[in-house]
Amino acid sequence: MIPSIKIIILGSGDTLGTPLAGCSCDTCLDLHSKRYRFGLLLEIDNLKILVDPNPDLKWECLNSNLELKDIDHIFITHHHSDHVNGLGEFFFRRSAPQTLWFGNHSLNHKLMEYWKYLENEEVLTFRTFDNFKKIQLTTDLSVLPIELNHGFPTSGFIFSYKDKKIAVVTDTNSKLNPETIEALNNVDVLFADTFSEDIEQVKRVYIDCGMPTPNLGTEWFHMTVDEVIDLQTKINAAKTYTVHMSRHMNKHEILVQKYQNDSFIIGHDNLIVNL
Ligand SMILES: [Zn+2]
Ligand SMILES: [Zn+2]
Repeated sequence: MIPSIKIIILGSGDTLGTPLAGCSCDTCLDLHSKRYRFGLLLEIDNLKILVDPNPDLKWECLNSNLELKDIDHIFITHHHSDHVNGLGEFFFRRSAPQTLWFGNHSLNHKLMEYWKYLENEEVLTFRTFDNFKKIQLTTDLSVLPIELNHGFPTSGFIFSYKDKKIAVVTDTNSKLNPETIEALNNVDVLFADTFSEDIEQVKRVYIDCGMPTPNLGTEWFHMTVDEVIDLQTKINAAKTYTVHMSRHMNKHEILVQKYQNDSFIIGHDNLIVNL
């Protein structure tokens, strides 16, 4: 049977990706732990949908044999540079104007001023969405933006195609509002922000660059492995793939040994999920 949904993890990495230039930790030196910045490609109902045009997009396309001209829709979770700074790659790469979707709030509108030339040159058509307002892309395919908790307005997405639901939940901490939890109930696949194994690894982020550690209970906006497992249980997701993983985690092989099972998969670049 030909799968009707194909998803590729283009990049499984965090803000800075792995390896970090100049870092000689075990994870950065490990070839199997190379993680481009976060990006997903969904092929559903003859549409190609990119979530987060990140700064590594060019290399992800080369890695995954992806032609930017073929992408129909681009969805942006939020305006941090690791999620939008690949937008310029679309310049001179279009067959017809591709649709760029971003959250309808002032921060994003401000950010999009910078990318306006792509709309002026008819490379992209800008559209906005509101959290919890469904977008119907085809008769059978819809997208529900959901509110996440990243310290400012941001969105995750639930793609629904026939009886299948795929959730993209990055960047966020685990304190999600009840409406988000309800929308996520019983998804078939969850791609979840898994920045670290534990909070000690988060502290290293700050120690590494000589910054004071903030109150990680209230001022940290990503999840640990345990928090992702709790979320998976809470929403009864059939399968979870970890994404947005930092170099502070152990190398890939160790993560697989420690955590992976049939329903909890350690994500990696170019991992393909067929449904
Ligand atoms: Zn990020
Ligand atoms: Zn972010």
